[in-house]
Amino acid sequence: MLRIGVNGYGTIGKRVADAVAEMPDMELVGVSKSRPNHTADAARRRGYAVYAPEERHDDFEAASIPAAGVVEDLIADSEIVVDATPAGMGAQYRPVYAEHDTPAIFQGGESAEVAETSFTAPANYEEAIGQQYVRIVSCNTTGLNRTFAPLIEAYGIERADVTLVRCRGDHAVIKPDPTTLPSHHGPDALEVLPEIGEIQTMGMKVPTIRHHVHSLTVTLNDSPDAAAVRDLLSEQSRIHVIPEQLGIESGWDLQEYALDRGRDRMNLYENQIWGESITTNDEHLSLFQSIHRESDVVPENVDAIRAIAGTADAAESIERTNEALGIDTV
Ligand code: NAD
Repeated sequence: MLRIGVNGYGTIGKRVADAVAEMPDMELVGVSKSRPNHTADAARRRGYAVYAPEERHDDFEAASIPAAGVVEDLIADSEIVVDATPAGMGAQYRPVYAEHDTPAIFQGGESAEVAETSFTAPANYEEAIGQQYVRIVSCNTTGLNRTFAPLIEAYGIERADVTLVRCRGDHAVIKPDPTTLPSHHGPDALEVLPEIGEIQTMGMKVPTIRHHVHSLTVTLNDSPDAAAVRDLLSEQSRIHVIPEQLGIESGWDLQEYALDRGRDRMNLYENQIWGESITTNDEHLSLFQSIHRESDVVPENVDAIRAIAGTADAAESIERTNEALGIDTV
């Protein structure tokens, strides 16, 4: 049993903690919270041991959410820590992980330099085997890499052009974000998959929640027909090619779909590609895909744990993770 701690129990950390708790080869040591709020209370009620920053330890006691220890105890007691603290804070924790000789997995809000390897399981699992520090790329980049990896293997990619419509607008406006190009997603995808060759990524923010939409045009080294590409993508376990007849038109429909499928926390771990959008024109492939920002990185975190521990190869780990999370079984 791999003993895993989750440092930071927010949007990503709570989902990773749930996933770790579901894995037959892992044990969740506990999670850390910075404040004894409702999320900490809910974690306690789920049976998770909650650890607190040293300076707030007594506040947890006062709020009747007694802490199991301080964050350093969690790091010391865990074989591997998943760091899901706010963007940039992981780098501040890295010396603490090093002090305890605890390998750590960072998230996409950290810069690539925080880790030895940037990671997407179906794309470069082997590179993370035995590493001390691994970084899961952002939700959007994870979604891109999952689509690029099988295309590279089957056809080779010459270049990719992607517009990412991101669900992060604060006000009722559409805005380019960032206005400078490329957005971080292109360089991040190249960290994991240099075989992409050239990539241009342009980001926009729109006022909606949970689901991003990507418009991709990929120039391949071959000219497959659309049906062949559709078959290839349908075979990937973390890609769901949405059949036309499901009538899924938007991120809102996808939320409902996730709930109806009985997914906790509206999790949709798989890329959702609109089947009818898969179109080819000689060597150019175009499609639309949607990414659930809160959960697509979760299976990647679980696989990174096994890669660091060296307890499974890519195919074994992906299969175990998928099975425990109910991916591709409906
Ligand atoms: P979040 O703000 O929802 O959660 C962060 C958690 O860390 C909170 O529970 C907070 O209490 C805790 N925390 C704050 N200070 C702490 C400290 N000093 N010690 C321990 N815990 C502390 O953040 P998030 O959205 O889950 O993002 C976490 C990381 O995941 C970031 O790198 C982010 O870029 C990345 N990410 C986020 C999303 C997303 O959709 N939210 C998607 C992919 C990747």
